[in-house]
Amino acid sequence: MTDQRGESTRAVHTAGDPEETTGSVQPPIFQTSTYVQSDFAVHQGYEYSRTQNPTRDALETAVAELESPDAPAHGSAFSSGMAAISAITQLLKSGDHILAASDLYGGTARLFDEIMAKFGVSTTYSELGPGELEACAQDNTRILWLESPTNPLLNIHDIETLTKQAHERGWLVVVDNTFASPVLQRPLQLGADIVVHSTTKYIAGHSDLVGGCIVVRDDGLNEQIRFIQNTIGSVPSPLDSFLTLRGIRTLPLRMERHCDNAEFLTERLASHPKVTRLLYPGLAQHSGHEVASRQMRRFGGIISLEVEGGEAGARKLAANLVLFATAESLGGVESLINHPWTMTHAATPEARRLEVGVTSGLVRLSVGIEDAEDLWNDLNNALNTL
Ligand SMILES: *Cc1c(COP(=O)(O)O)cnc(C)c1O
Repeated sequence: MTDQRGESTRAVHTAGDPEETTGSVQPPIFQTSTYVQSDFAVHQGYEYSRTQNPTRDALETAVAELESPDAPAHGSAFSSGMAAISAITQLLKSGDHILAASDLYGGTARLFDEIMAKFGVSTTYSELGPGELEACAQDNTRILWLESPTNPLLNIHDIETLTKQAHERGWLVVVDNTFASPVLQRPLQLGADIVVHSTTKYIAGHSDLVGGCIVVRDDGLNEQIRFIQNTIGSVPSPLDSFLTLRGIRTLPLRMERHCDNAEFLTERLASHPKVTRLLYPGLAQHSGHEVASRQMRRFGGIISLEVEGGEAGARKLAANLVLFATAESLGGVESLINHPWTMTHAATPEARRLEVGVTSGLVRLSVGIEDAEDLWNDLNNALNTL
């Protein structure tokens, strides 16, 4: 089952192309809700598009191959990253407990705190430093929930070590791999049980859709996820499945460019006098650099920084940028700047934001695939106005 081909080859030739009946190089967009049956309950494996759709199948195969080229795995696609994340929480029951990394994606924490809590599922947040997993473990803990690098502070969690500790206790390990993409990091190979993505970001990569996916290796776990997917019904449309798959064709190529550009920019930002704090796992002085060097192939396309002047400085920086548009989201071909304090993390209680280090002066850059020199000129010009 091991696929020996290179990653770019797999991304371009994934999911059984060409299509058999017509020779279509790309999988057709099967824009249908239902499928004709030759007799009652006699069909070709497709009954209803909430349950199965061939375009979605192609996407699900592709994400599984990306995350797990060396062992069989199952992908399931969802209508958003949050839909995928919430499907995972449906594995739990009232009385269960989640141990989560402390600076999780704001929407995930909101789901845990505002929705899951109502159903009797509790969550503890921890930085998961030495001894903390043991200290936070409860008899009813079922899931260790990790993100690495985290959003927006780019903290790194040692996936392999934490997974071993969680497995000793019989917990499932979930890794939100959105920031790294499967090109840079493969949590299943590090032992994790469930990988989840907002495919909205790098996987689709063009800021033109919202989607999510889950990849697991275990057949039983997959059956449960598929049951939840069909029962809850938060599936992507055939068109969005097609677009996500089209994004995957260039994912390895794009990731190299995102990383090249981010490395180029961090080198220059590091010596700019207006930059007061610079977070990028590729920097030798970053607290997670050593672990990131082990578990990631490169360090990704996201940079967070604080500039002189706190929130006012951040506002001025954003206002003076031309190529970096101010917007939520990340991972698209175009560069974006985000102010977590007022945007992505506004729903996170202020005390928690400050506790984890999301300050009002912090901005997050999603470095696109434009020419690096142009991006630097844009940043440098805007920084020099501060
Ligand atoms: C965007 C994002 C999500 C949520 O995904 P949606 O597609 O917006 O629902 C979850 N986790 C991370 C790390 C994200 O960046």
